[in-house]
Amino acid sequence: MPTAPLFLCPICSNALEKENNIFKCENNHCFDSAKEGYVNLLPVQNKKTKQPGDNKAMIVARKLFLEKNYYDILLTPCTELINRYLSTENNPANLLDIGCGDGYFTNIIFNNIERSRICYGMDISKEAVKVAAKRDKTIHWFVASSSNIPLPDESIDCILKINSPLDYANTTKKLSNGGFVVSVTPGKKHLFSFKSHIYETAHDHEPETQPINYKLLDTVNLEDTITLQTQSEIEQLFMMTPFYWNASQTAKDNIAKLTELTTEIAFDIHIWQKN
Ligand SMILES: [Zn+2]
Repeated sequence: MPTAPLFLCPICSNALEKENNIFKCENNHCFDSAKEGYVNLLPVQNKKTKQPGDNKAMIVARKLFLEKNYYDILLTPCTELINRYLSTENNPANLLDIGCGDGYFTNIIFNNIERSRICYGMDISKEAVKVAAKRDKTIHWFVASSSNIPLPDESIDCILKINSPLDYANTTKKLSNGGFVVSVTPGKKHLFSFKSHIYETAHDHEPETQPINYKLLDTVNLEDTITLQTQSEIEQLFMMTPFYWNASQTAKDNIAKLTELTTEIAFDIHIWQKN
């Protein structure tokens, strides 16, 4: 199975060739392959902050939480949908997880795809990719921004994105003919009881709207209830949600007092195929 990555230079878009542990384009732009087994393809000038994306504490919280299997409800449906819709035309198939975070889902889902494949895991957070890279050495892990995906146009057969934003307009050209996005977004009642500890009035999540130039191939709605048994698990969940950023001190104090939490989880999976 060929496994060489198809990386492009994020500065000049020429192909990158790997020599020793350096990815280099014909214009001599160089990117080191880190000892952890990932490559940073986010040029310094494209960074809006010094350390874009989730910080180390958030990544560790996410990793610990996911490894307790609380969101495993996602694994089988995502895997089955990719197996069902992946075209047999391109062999091997190219799969890309955008916003892979600590790589928990990437590793399990991509390793259960039946087809011959080349897998990529991408995140804008270097700390996240560093953790992800330890999970599997056959997946090509890299740091990049979804507004400048350093892979050739029309090369990706399946993009997976789990609870992370996607610039659909910029992504379309990266998808192959028949290529599709597996988009996981929070379902209507996701973490509703948990949110009622944070906000005076908890609101339902809005469903994802149809992106322009895509058609809906399939949709799956998942719902379950989870019970967290310790304060540290509750804190881990809190840190991996967007609520963490704008929570008031009162809300933070409320969360810190919880020793057990039963809450709904819900996910919507949409398969959007490029038109
Ligand atoms: Zn270059």
